[in-house]
Amino acid sequence: MLDSKTKSVLLERIRTVVGSDHVTVNETDAILNAHDANPLSEAKIRAGESLPLADLIVFPASTEEVSKVLKLANELRVPVVPVGGGAGTCGGTLPVYGGIQLDLKRMDKVILIDNQSMLVQVQAGVVGIDLEEEVNRQGYTTGHTPTSLRASNVGGFIATRSGGSMSSLYGKIEDLTLGLEVVLADGSVIRCKAVPRHSVGPDLKQLFIGSEGTLCVITEATLRLFPLPKERRFRSMSFPDVHSGLEAIRLIFREGVLPSVVRLYDPEDTALHVSSHFDVEEGSCMLMLAFDGRAEKVAVEESIAAEICLKNGAKDYGEGPSRYWWEHRYDMYYPTKFATSGYSVGDTIDIVATYDKLENVYHEMKKAMEAHDAVVMSHFSHMYPNGGSIYMIFFVSKEDASSAWSAYKGIWDDGVAACLRMGGTMSHQHGVGTTRSTYTEAEWGSGFQVLRQIKEVLDPNGIMNPGKLGMGGRS
Ligand SMILES: Cc1cc2nc3c(=O)[nH]c(=O)nc-3n(C[C@H](O)[C@H](O)[C@H](O)COP(=O)(O)OP(=O)(O)OC[C@H]3O[C@@H](n4cnc5c(N)ncnc54)[C@H](O)[C@@H]3O)c2cc1C
Repeated sequence: MLDSKTKSVLLERIRTVVGSDHVTVNETDAILNAHDANPLSEAKIRAGESLPLADLIVFPASTEEVSKVLKLANELRVPVVPVGGGAGTCGGTLPVYGGIQLDLKRMDKVILIDNQSMLVQVQAGVVGIDLEEEVNRQGYTTGHTPTSLRASNVGGFIATRSGGSMSSLYGKIEDLTLGLEVVLADGSVIRCKAVPRHSVGPDLKQLFIGSEGTLCVITEATLRLFPLPKERRFRSMSFPDVHSGLEAIRLIFREGVLPSVVRLYDPEDTALHVSSHFDVEEGSCMLMLAFDGRAEKVAVEESIAAEICLKNGAKDYGEGPSRYWWEHRYDMYYPTKFATSGYSVGDTIDIVATYDKLENVYHEMKKAMEAHDAVVMSHFSHMYPNGGSIYMIFFVSKEDASSAWSAYKGIWDDGVAACLRMGGTMSHQHGVGTTRSTYTEAEWGSGFQVLRQIKEVLDPNGIMNPGKLGMGGRS
């Protein structure tokens, strides 16, 4: 928290930058902004615990205003926490050292749709669904459809290196972002030109993609567009076990087929999410596939994929479970059906590994997490030619708050340790935030020192989102 003198000087000066209506010191606003979609924060609030609050919440309208706010914060050594949609799951927007929450929601313009190059230039605060619907009206899709599409914005997508449910075909946000504008801690504005690629040294924009507000504020981006697919076909296959399902996925990619959706549910996740609507054998694993494009191309891809699945022991379920998932994929979240009660808490550890390690990572993590009396269910989604991610979902319930929070921590500690031991990487799409901050150094190894040095150069006063991405805190 800021001392009252610094707070009042800052408030006065920020009012002159964004106008009095666009900065708040109201406690109710601060309480509402004190958490994101991190399940532990939500469980703590439910249990009556309080979380750190921001001193001010500021809503800039332009890159110039962002730059002025950062200059001021840098001069007064005040922490700045960028806020996108606030739907991150890792506590990235929590103002752990107070200061300013810089909320980009007013910067929500679609600036330009370039039909010739198939690009869209946007301000960082545009909400995912608003952008998608706007480009849909022009016959395009961004191809970026995370389940948080209705709650997150473009700046948040880029800051967390997010991945959409169709990333196997269209790519992840780092593939989709061609141009970027960011503001550094000292207020300087950096523009990375939108080009398909370049060979003028390292790709600077990739340094900012995934930086979670610790290096810069993202203010604008230029994203790729794709023509809306003429056809989207669904196919579902049930496998006797995880092993045969993963092997079929690997072979589908090896054959050069790129489905838009690839999701393999383990027996527990199949039982919970599929068996309530479809007749599936106990212990089986449902694979959901989708294919996008012209009818002829899609038909060939579907038939190659189906042939591979059947050769690997699958039972054909037609389009049923896959189409059902697609049509109901937001039901669980809007409004959320995840609300737990009492001292229960659930979360997801989304990890990524290459095919040679994926299955071992899955089994070892599951064992490590279940050792804490957690219910664990998983699906393999966001699959690629060389490997893919596992979405390890857990729930744990205890008699009192301190046992619940310590079980939660134990599940994370041991789950991540098992992932790293077996050669996986601890986050595929959700980022690091506060939840994974303490494991960052183990994940990066000696490379972490380089990241720290970059941080020291770009943000010598440590004002940018302190305490996140393993970047330590402030005194
Ligand atoms: C129901 C639900 C479903 C989800 N599904 C997916 C999914 O399918 N795929 C996926 O990848 N993720 C998913 N997520 C996680 C989350 O929504 C993503 O991580 C998303 O990218 C976060 O965007 P946001 O705008 O909500 O970011 P926020 O929560 O506001 O911020 C996240 C982090 O980014 C920083 N940040 C935000 N905006 C900026 C900016 N302009 N400049 C610099 N830093 C910034 C913040 O400081 C913070 O550290 C899901 C979350 C929920 C709750």
